[in-house]
Amino acid sequence: MPELPEVETVRRGLQPVLEGARIARVEARRPDLRFPFPERFSERLTGKTITALGRRAKYLTMHLDGGPVLICHLGMSGSFRIETADSSDLPGVFYHERSKSAAHDHVVFDVVSPEGGRSRVIFNDPRRFGFMLFAEGLVDTHPMLAGLGVEPTGNALDGALLASLLKGRRSPLKAALLDQRLIAGLGNIYVSEALWRAGLSPLREAGTIAKAGKKAGEQAERLAAAIRSVIADAIAAGGSSLRDYMQTDGSMGYFQHSFAVYDREGEPCSKPGCGGHIERIVQSGRSTFYCRTCQR
Ligand SMILES: [Zn+2]
Repeated sequence: MPELPEVETVRRGLQPVLEGARIARVEARRPDLRFPFPERFSERLTGKTITALGRRAKYLTMHLDGGPVLICHLGMSGSFRIETADSSDLPGVFYHERSKSAAHDHVVFDVVSPEGGRSRVIFNDPRRFGFMLFAEGLVDTHPMLAGLGVEPTGNALDGALLASLLKGRRSPLKAALLDQRLIAGLGNIYVSEALWRAGLSPLREAGTIAKAGKKAGEQAERLAAAIRSVIADAIAAGGSSLRDYMQTDGSMGYFQHSFAVYDREGEPCSKPGCGGHIERIVQSGRSTFYCRTCQR
């Protein structure tokens, strides 16, 4: 499942092609993905200009001039591919770098830039857990997005806010951090990574870093900074990459090489002077990787 950094990487890859462009044609090649496509899907998009391509948690939001907002989710295996027109002498004919999974190209957007350049943006999703829906009016009030917590990017998430979110919570710290109603878009990989950076155990009670006193305050500050930095580093590196995830230009992301704990069971902890080893435990049915020596 792509995590927030991958989705943000997709957004940044699509932004130069989509923002300001007019949608000339949309083709949905099947009636549904995880959900049926909205009624009059192609019709409502065709001819519209894309004013902005945004993101909220793991949802991409395509804002249309005078139209609805298209909410896209990559699901488990969704990816976008950009094919640019050969403007030299074959206008309208596209370079096809057809992957072997072209059978899973489910939605095709033909767009025209303000300068007249044509591009094709293709949504490919072998497992079809992705979806596209329309939001009318304010996108933040759409049922999919309304209950989402604070973004882990930017400076909104600081120690004080994190402490207020975790105050009184008896669940393990890792479980609380995965709760999308508290922090939106933080997933299994980056929670493990952030907890390692902050030197905090995934097993400790979440509320312990929200207690009164200097120590808890420092821990909350450290954890908030670790969450922000691990997400920012992953975005800077082009997103992490699970097996079936591709960047918009078709290349694989490479942040996975810099995971400190994720998928490193049995390896020495890389924190200087620690000497511990990375363990894998299962919490709420999902793998947690951590070092019990330096994460307390
Ligand atoms: Zn360690």
